[in-house]
Amino acid sequence: MQFIQLPAFNDNYIWLLEKSGHVWVVDPGDATVVRDYLENHSLYLDGFLITHHHRDHIGGISELRDWAITSGMGSPIVYGPSQEEIPFKTHSFSGGEVIDILNGVLLQVIDVGGHTKGHIAYYLENANPPRLFCGDTLFASGCGRIFEGTANQLFDSLQRLAILPTETLVCCAHEYTLSNIRFAKAIEPNNQELMNWSNKAESLRREQKFTVPTTIGLELEVNPFLRCQEASVMEAASTHVGHPVTEPKEVFSIIRGWKDVFK
Ligand SMILES: [Zn+2]
Repeated sequence: MQFIQLPAFNDNYIWLLEKSGHVWVVDPGDATVVRDYLENHSLYLDGFLITHHHRDHIGGISELRDWAITSGMGSPIVYGPSQEEIPFKTHSFSGGEVIDILNGVLLQVIDVGGHTKGHIAYYLENANPPRLFCGDTLFASGCGRIFEGTANQLFDSLQRLAILPTETLVCCAHEYTLSNIRFAKAIEPNNQELMNWSNKAESLRREQKFTVPTTIGLELEVNPFLRCQEASVMEAASTHVGHPVTEPKEVFSIIRGWKDVFK
């Protein structure tokens, strides 16, 4: 089993899961980059794992589907969130299901609504290390914006991811790490793990390397959106709004709103 990380557009990542020449594609926003890879490596397209309905995650489905049909592979399976309209969706999920791809690779579907209402993540427990494909929910040092859901919903979704094994690789859909770190440092200027990670991430980007995937363990140390119960994060939120805040959900809501306008 192989995992391939294809950069697309300015800062997207498209993930491929490959076994014995067969591939599932997570969130094919761009058809060309995926098709070129599949053609160059003579791979067979089985289906798509869609996390949510934003254009940069689904924009390539139709073209790739046409290509697969023309190439004699048949029509790819399209797994996606039940609450959202996804082109050519064949199966709908809302969280709690287990799906079987590539002859015995089991993925758990997790409800991670908040960025969009029906957003789902795919968790592959039985890999070493385990892998999480979480679209625009949890990012390295940050989290997705709230477009359709509520802050409470996104908070609960992130809590569901925070309890995964610490070694889990977080295969998110964007390279937003450096700008997320700038905000995280404003929240926790004295977090030494964050400073170490900041130095490492900056040097990776200088060498044009990916900072993604991250791990759940690292995120628990550096990501303010997973640290709303920490005194340092509560204090930053309290100072920002001018009154004491101690409820983690409220802390989350405050810092999520703050990040939206942070420059
Ligand atoms: Zn999105």
